[in-house]
Amino acid sequence: MRKITIFDTTLRDGEQSPGCSMHLGEKLDIAEALDKLGVDVIEAGFPASSEGEFKAVKEIAGVVKRASVAVLCRCREDDIDKGFDAIKDAVHPRLHIFIATSPVHLNHKLNITQDECIQIIDKYTRYAKKYTDDVQFSFEDASRTPIDFLAKCAQTAVNAGATTINIPDTTGFITPQEFSGMIVYLKKNVKGIDNVTISVHCHDDLGLAVANSLAAAVVGAGQIECTINGIGERAGNAPLEEIAMGIKTRKEYYKLETGIDTKKIYRTSKLVSSIVGIKPSANKAIIGSNAFLHESGIHQHGILQDKATYQIMDPSDIGIPENALVIGKHSGRHAFKDLTVEMGYTLTDEQIDTLFPKFKELADRKKDVSRVDIETLLAGYTRRVIKRIYTLKDYEISAIKNQASATITLESEGKSQTEKMTGDGPIDAGFKAILNITGDFFRLLDYQVHSITEGKDALGEAIVKLTNGKEIMTGKGISTDVMEASLIAYLDAINKLIQYEE
Ligand code: MN
Repeated sequence: MRKITIFDTTLRDGEQSPGCSMHLGEKLDIAEALDKLGVDVIEAGFPASSEGEFKAVKEIAGVVKRASVAVLCRCREDDIDKGFDAIKDAVHPRLHIFIATSPVHLNHKLNITQDECIQIIDKYTRYAKKYTDDVQFSFEDASRTPIDFLAKCAQTAVNAGATTINIPDTTGFITPQEFSGMIVYLKKNVKGIDNVTISVHCHDDLGLAVANSLAAAVVGAGQIECTINGIGERAGNAPLEEIAMGIKTRKEYYKLETGIDTKKIYRTSKLVSSIVGIKPSANKAIIGSNAFLHESGIHQHGILQDKATYQIMDPSDIGIPENALVIGKHSGRHAFKDLTVEMGYTLTDEQIDTLFPKFKELADRKKDVSRVDIETLLAGYTRRVIKRIYTLKDYEISAIKNQASATITLESEGKSQTEKMTGDGPIDAGFKAILNITGDFFRLLDYQVHSITEGKDALGEAIVKLTNGKEIMTGKGISTDVMEASLIAYLDAINKLIQYEE
């Protein structure tokens, strides 16, 4: 078995996808979850892009205990200086530098010749090597670069000391047969390539990101770049969960393995989808809500006789909790804490203090509390506490046909303020009353409500996306009452925008 290095770029390419920007605390939570999941490299961001990004990368580098932390840099001295400054305290820092190599990029974006491109690759690889031995060089749009020129680029980076060379299919253009052919060509034609890691970074524009990544790995690529839930630019990146479960489920075929603890996939996927506010489609491989459901009679009959009839993976392999009653309203703080430990969480006493009342509240409203409920509760609240500027203290909402009114009380810095408004509907009235207190400095982009557990007392999750014109922030609220969930989500997004403006 050859081990594939899993390079996760949820925090860099993933965050670049529309509407996926994350708050600092959320990034730290994701970084820790990825570290526990067993990824080998975490790409933390692009420090040269802004001061906020630099600060976020620096903090991420400080919380990651095991994985390498990589930063993306253009071929510029200030990018590389800043990039290394952000990760210098990481346990294993990696500089990831890139330049585009395809004719369309060279001629229309960079306005440089192929010879100039080669000189740049040599110069900046050597520049990055002054900071760390672990230097990855990426050839943006490699899949649309003439293969002889790509080999020349790769040779230059290898000669200059790059330890990983990345072959991205930036536009999601390539097919598995062509892509494996490219890797084979590079292995044959670049001297010393066997001493470096060949990486691939595939986009899903034509639905082939996973197929292309695995085809490359089979012929010798040693690193796959991917993201949780496949988030990323446009159609997204290769989803980590599909890569990891593909390799695990078909290990005899691939003769490959990864360091991913697959039992943490479900949890990590939930965390990321709740933070970015994008729920994977129901039929999404591995983590979609239907991925392990058997609906037709013939299939159900088969499964009851022998799971292997229609199931190639067990839901427990990715850590899907069983939906059985585990804890009730009379359970105490200890029972609750023990359960979170049994479920693999390590929570501080402070976190338990925050979560236990929420659990009690849930147990009061909902008769049966299952592991799925607890998982949901934790996915929503284990995040580092985002500074609350406004908290929802009380509300009273009434609605009859064509007429609704809401009285909302918010608390801020120990002071309460109450506003009453009417609206087209209860949510409209509630949001308007909140605006009267917080001020109207943003625009509502998206508002969704869905149930996240089963039954008539299911937990409802509300997701609100707001923008101040510069940044999009996602707010989330969970409650058995969708009205309350909506108000909490709205306030959550407002609080993040206020902090962003500060
Ligand atoms: Mn990309």
